[in-house]
Amino acid sequence: MEEECLFCKIVAGEIPSEEVYSDGDFIAFLDINPRNPGHTLVIPRKHYNTILEMPDSEVADLSRVVKKIAIAVKKGTNADGISIGQSNERAAGQVIPHVHFHVIPRFASEGPPGLESIIPTKKLTPEIMKKLTETIKANFGSSETAPAKKPEKLEKTEELREELKEEDFEL
Ligand SMILES: [Zn+2]
Repeated sequence: MEEECLFCKIVAGEIPSEEVYSDGDFIAFLDINPRNPGHTLVIPRKHYNTILEMPDSEVADLSRVVKKIAIAVKKGTNADGISIGQSNERAAGQVIPHVHFHVIPRFASEGPPGLESIIPTKKLTPEIMKKLTETIKANFGSSETAPAKKPEKLEKTEELREELKEEDFEL
């Protein structure tokens, strides 16, 4: 348990929640600021800031629970579809730094389709696309945990970011 973590307090029962699921490792409860009725959060009982620090086996178990919740939420809300969202770190929009998945019921009547539409698309040159592919591929197998101590790779990313700034691409 992490002091001052809102979700750890929910796990500990110090803060009440509308719990829809609970097992030895995970719980799911209604988001207090729902995007749609039935919007549910699925979290591990154990505190991890982001999914990047979670052991693979726990991520696998969490994914199975997320699917289970998605089925129940869809049936329970009579939704036409389900969006599943997961953000890591502030830049990605993570507000509570305790790993969580959003399971959001979606309705045919509600308009704009996917979560994907939140971030506008960008036009990149084939050269930049190729460079991005190489840079991402170069970072596989580094570790399960957040890559904090890999200067060469981080520099490479910085370099690329600089290039992206200079290159012409439409937003
Ligand atoms: Zn926590």
